[in-house]
Amino acid sequence: MIRCSPQVPWWRDVLCRFIPPSRSALTWHLLLNRLPIEDRLCRAGFHLASRCSVCGASSESSDHLFLRCPLAAALWEAVFSTFQRHISADSWSSFFSQAMSVSFSDQVRVLWITAIHVVVWSVWFACNQWIFENKVVDFISALSLVWRAMSDANRLEIGCMRNCVDDLLILRWFDLRGRPARASVIKSVIWSPPAPGWIKINTDGAALSSPGAGGCRGVFLNCRAFVKGCFDVPLG
Ligand SMILES: [Zn+2]
Repeated sequence: MIRCSPQVPWWRDVLCRFIPPSRSALTWHLLLNRLPIEDRLCRAGFHLASRCSVCGASSESSDHLFLRCPLAAALWEAVFSTFQRHISADSWSSFFSQAMSVSFSDQVRVLWITAIHVVVWSVWFACNQWIFENKVVDFISALSLVWRAMSDANRLEIGCMRNCVDDLLILRWFDLRGRPARASVIKSVIWSPPAPGWIKINTDGAALSSPGAGGCRGVFLNCRAFVKGCFDVPLG
């Protein structure tokens, strides 16, 4: 039996169930540098005057078309400002790698990954519209494609948001319904005073991470719950 295993580390970030195959296939080919971009065709021996099909102001390479071309740059800026994240990279592969390592809640991550894929798709669509239809796709039209795809992805109801203001603002910006994470289990704890003449000591400890800064504290209380003393000790 032959077992096939993916040969690229980013395959999970491309073959997502919330990304239509036509769009993930485009990103896949882009990451493998297999798109018929003029710069690549020239290197393959085709005699073309490489010129970006979208802006006409630079040679057409994948890094220019999908990162630096004015249409792509404006779309990324819109996405970054909405998600309050910024990525700076010289190459598309580095950009994609950084984008996939950004931390979000599961619900917002679906929107973020969708935005990455759909910006690529929108730029490629604009490029082909100009080449084959002689039509210009403007920034507003391209951005509306991105926002609509994110709204569609959110309807699949994958993952929950973090119960924090950042996630709430992102979801409100797109007028999307948030799916709050379940509140942690609430345990009721009843404190009872010690018998007369006795002192009760309540202690607690916490650590920032493991290993990391930690500390402990304690409080001494009498039978009337008056504090008779306390301590607070950092543990390094
Ligand atoms: Zn361009």
